[in-house]
Amino acid sequence: MSSTTKYIFVTGGVTSSLGKGIVSASLAKLLQSRGFSVTIQKLDPYINVDPGTLNPYEHGECYVTEDGAETDLDLGHYERFLDVQTSQDNNVTTGRIYQSVINKERKGDYLGKTVQVIPHITNEIKDHIKQLGEKNIYDVVITEIGGTVGDIESLPFIEAIRQLHWELPKDVLFIHLTLIPYLATSGELKTKPTQHSVKTLLEYGIQPDILVCRTEHHLTEDLRKKIALFCNVEQKAVIESIDASTIYEVPLLMQEEGLDEVVCEQLNLKKSEKPALKKWKEFLFNHSHPEKEIKIGLIGKYVELKDSYISIAESLIHAGAKNKCKVNIEWIHSSKLEDEKCNEVLKGLNGILVAPGFGSRGIEGKINAVNYARESNIPFLGICLGMQCAVIEIARNVIQLNGAHTTEIDENNPFPVISKIEEQKQIENMGGTMRLGAYECEIKSDSLLSSIYQKDLIKERHRHRFEFNNDFINQFNEKGIVFSGINPKNNLVETIEIPSHRWFVGVQFHPEYKSTVINPHPLFVNFVNAAIDFSKEKIELISETQHS
Ligand code: GLN
Repeated sequence: MSSTTKYIFVTGGVTSSLGKGIVSASLAKLLQSRGFSVTIQKLDPYINVDPGTLNPYEHGECYVTEDGAETDLDLGHYERFLDVQTSQDNNVTTGRIYQSVINKERKGDYLGKTVQVIPHITNEIKDHIKQLGEKNIYDVVITEIGGTVGDIESLPFIEAIRQLHWELPKDVLFIHLTLIPYLATSGELKTKPTQHSVKTLLEYGIQPDILVCRTEHHLTEDLRKKIALFCNVEQKAVIESIDASTIYEVPLLMQEEGLDEVVCEQLNLKKSEKPALKKWKEFLFNHSHPEKEIKIGLIGKYVELKDSYISIAESLIHAGAKNKCKVNIEWIHSSKLEDEKCNEVLKGLNGILVAPGFGSRGIEGKINAVNYARESNIPFLGICLGMQCAVIEIARNVIQLNGAHTTEIDENNPFPVISKIEEQKQIENMGGTMRLGAYECEIKSDSLLSSIYQKDLIKERHRHRFEFNNDFINQFNEKGIVFSGINPKNNLVETIEIPSHRWFVGVQFHPEYKSTVINPHPLFVNFVNAAIDFSKEKIELISETQHS
């Protein structure tokens, strides 16, 4: 632990979606493997206080931290890369900054002063950045600024980091991520947009120290020299970031380019040997050398935008590598499963995963998918709304509770097997009011869950308002359904399973938030394993019938 925390700021230029989150996470990984304790923070320039109220089509998945913060999906990348937990402090939006300044103003904290963007908003931003450093546990805080340089809405953030550099010149480093477009007609890589983007930063008083250049083709020495000269950076600080086949390759590509070396040098961080990244490379090897292949159907209503389920998709990648298996995800829109074609669409899958979600669109399709998985004995994993759909399906078709539903969709249904607990009924505001963050769950011995986790007490993260209605517990038990995970504090059902089924698990929590490259989540690892076994059985069955 160094005495002063170093702050690295990552800005983006030319266009959005260049992968600032992945570059930040990769640099953090490299510094972490050199022995530094690192955390990453994301500053988002929108007015929502957090992304919890945003539709996934707007902003992709909402990632939930252990302490129950609803955050940007980049925090998921940070945790998956670093295997270190983040918290509310790691994601700050313009809305949160203004909310806090306005609250202070109402309290009279500004003693009659006019409250202004500079200094009040910028001070608030700086406080939020330094808050992580002041915890005295991090050698390096990497802060990613959302949006693209030049956007009006990110100006206060840019001004705040300029001021921080002025205050702490030796402890602050600026990395600018830009695009070097390739013009196919002339066969050339073009540096002009990068030069302009750096000029814009210079207008704001920021000279980037390092340029990370996204490109489809390798940068020649001449090109690097040109970028260095025009943008006023050292030549070795022009880092190529070539398109990678997987995001998990990026730390190795950044290491080859010497990004961590340059950062250590510029920040005067005493660097150890070049890290071997043994476990990381092992994971990548398994990921790129699968010995088998399976097809998992991911049933959801936002499947056009894959970012909506990014943590689930990444968890399946981690679990696939652990099983030396390529997991192909078939993205299936739940509204396609609402009629008799359902079975046709789901045929041939080795596993079915019904995703989390909100609202009525496509819900009957999700329930049909559960029905197909249950009756055809196909490995099934239901997450949050997916588990609730499993409960509804079993209630309707096994216990014969006709019209059973969740009160989220049908408030007056005759058998509300999923409903709100009293605590939730009193709440009117939408933002930040769900059951959020990590809760304990006690696991029944002899259950499938207990064999998967090998523990009797676990902690998993939640994000929902509705729960299994305990009034129906006996009717489910009588049909052989096992509630294998229970919240010990309030007796809420957290998981269900069907022991007579090959692999049928529904979880009220979100295991996908806790799967990392180094520690793939056991539930996903086991689900993928069950799907592999099922795929082998199917192959055997086909060859038997062919030989008979
Ligand atoms: N809509 C459901 C609830 O609020 C499930 C939420 C989810 O899947 N995250 O309880």
